[in-house]
Amino acid sequence: MVQHAPALFLADTPGLDFLNSIATPVDTRIDWIEDGEGLLAWLEQAGLVPPRTLAELREQAMPGELDAVAAQARGLRETFRTFVQEHRGAPLTAEALPELAPLNRLLARDEGFLQLGVAEDTTGDTAGDAAGDAAGDRATAGLRIRTMRRWRSPDSLLLPIGEALAGLVSEEDFTDVKACEGPACTLMFVDRTRGRVRRWCSMAICGNRAKQAAHRSRLKNSG
Ligand SMILES: [Zn+2]
Repeated sequence: MVQHAPALFLADTPGLDFLNSIATPVDTRIDWIEDGEGLLAWLEQAGLVPPRTLAELREQAMPGELDAVAAQARGLRETFRTFVQEHRGAPLTAEALPELAPLNRLLARDEGFLQLGVAEDTTGDTAGDAAGDAAGDRATAGLRIRTMRRWRSPDSLLLPIGEALAGLVSEEDFTDVKACEGPACTLMFVDRTRGRVRRWCSMAICGNRAKQAAHRSRLKNSG
């Protein structure tokens, strides 16, 4: 696998960060999930799967199995990109639900379960068995109930991605889902600024470039 720059997490919501796992941050297009190893690395950077689980699945996988899951993830990413591009700019309505049937089928495969633990136990690494790892938790005074997930096969790596996408459509106002205004940029984000004035994926990638272009055109016009 090719060593890439760290993946981009600038969308302010994990579902869009997943869509942004293919991008052109400088001038070469990078697909962070171009193969199985890339998918494992991206999931680890995204904090969606505990490192220990990733190591176990890497060990157990048959040759080519992780690459096949990465291909499925890329398919999901492109289908979902089309959905977001079509719907962003206005609140999602119930009419969008039929289009989300494939996502619902993925979510139906999840094998989540609840476990009680102590509140300090936040890493998911202390459970010690292969049954599952923390996928989310709700704290109480001394004990907490945690949502765990069984990671039965490499396929299960798609489940936290499905959960992130489901979070995007159910928790975010699509009015605030924006595409970066950079001319060649494909990155998307949720605009959480007070006046909804965010225009760029980041200043470093596109904002400064736009500023420089505006500066150059001012110089040209005045000279
Ligand atoms: Zn951009």
